[in-house]
Amino acid sequence: MMPPLSPKEILAISDELMSVMLEDRHHLHQYPELSFQEENTTLYIQTQLKKMGLACTLLPNRGVVAHFKGKLPGEKVVALRADFDALPIQEQNEKPYKSRNTGVMHACGHDVHTAALLGVARILLALQPRFGGTVKFLFQPAEEKFPGGARAMVEAGALKGPDVDVVLAQHVMPELEAGKVGVKAGRYAAANDEVNITIKGRGGHGALPHALVDPVIVAAQILLSMQTIVSRVANPTEPTVLSFGKIVADGANNIIPEVVHMYGTLRTFDKAWRQQAHEKIKQISQGIAEAMGASCEVHIQGFSNVENDEPLTAEVIAWSREFLGEENVVALDYWMAGEDFGEFARDVPGCYYRIGSGNVEKGIDAPLHNPRFDVDEEPLFRISSALMTYIALKKLGN
Ligand SMILES: [Zn+2]
Ligand SMILES: [Zn+2]
Repeated sequence: MMPPLSPKEILAISDELMSVMLEDRHHLHQYPELSFQEENTTLYIQTQLKKMGLACTLLPNRGVVAHFKGKLPGEKVVALRADFDALPIQEQNEKPYKSRNTGVMHACGHDVHTAALLGVARILLALQPRFGGTVKFLFQPAEEKFPGGARAMVEAGALKGPDVDVVLAQHVMPELEAGKVGVKAGRYAAANDEVNITIKGRGGHGALPHALVDPVIVAAQILLSMQTIVSRVANPTEPTVLSFGKIVADGANNIIPEVVHMYGTLRTFDKAWRQQAHEKIKQISQGIAEAMGASCEVHIQGFSNVENDEPLTAEVIAWSREFLGEENVVALDYWMAGEDFGEFARDVPGCYYRIGSGNVEKGIDAPLHNPRFDVDEEPLFRISSALMTYIALKKLGN
């Protein structure tokens, strides 16, 4: 019987692979692609997996799935997920690996997640004679945009054959120093719903409102009343956000438009409250519109929150402490951002943890989705693949 794999051994292999992992990250960073358009990224991932000698499956939505078994006995299956889409942002960093695709940037670190997951595959292949169980790799497109890539991957059978026991994912965290991880058991990222409202009135001359139905005023009433859902209807102990970032009333100084469109986002955690909030948004909008002689259509769509499985998360915390030292594992609060990892973790127990990527002293502190976002890549890559490997091996019973 061989001794169990130690963090030291895994770190040594990871260190040897550092330049390859950075090469992967730099390539992905230079050629970012928007959600649902990730053709070359998908090709790059498939090429790297094939070079490692791994068979992979391309799903209809461009998700890429691969798996392999350790040489020791073991029946458990652990899935590891990385997303790979980028954002419509023009990069403002001046790095040799700066984005070469105008107006598109990996400003959410999905290049890091994907390079790190390829790194996990490389480390595990080197360790194949030393472990038992199966590791499944889920490379996911379109995390940033509804309906996301996760649900379609689940529907295409990504969690089946071999059937996955647990699923894990990591996401960079610029507010946390590289070298540390952050974890929260239970509810973590919020359910994310797009709220689209169309108000129809009767347009015409701005000087003759009495003969019209002004949808701009209806929208203004709806906008303000909607805030009472958060302040008066939501239980104060239940985190809730409702924001409208885009309102289009395309009239003119002297033209009252026919239609106004409102685009907002709702963030919640509790399933029942989420449904109730949807009903309330519809009720208030339609009630106000009707009272003012207009009509109103409401469409709400989104994905569920990330609920980190309590026992699995306790294990992830314990193994991260073993691997990084107690002082490098930080407890996190709720994250109001959305994450469609929740779609994988709805079907099997999941844990989504954050990996520190910032360094204030080096000036690496821009938030996610910022044109100056970057990561402190060496200390980050020193642990990102290695820790994920360690957690997966532990969960497989090694
Ligand atoms: Zn993002
Ligand atoms: Zn992200």
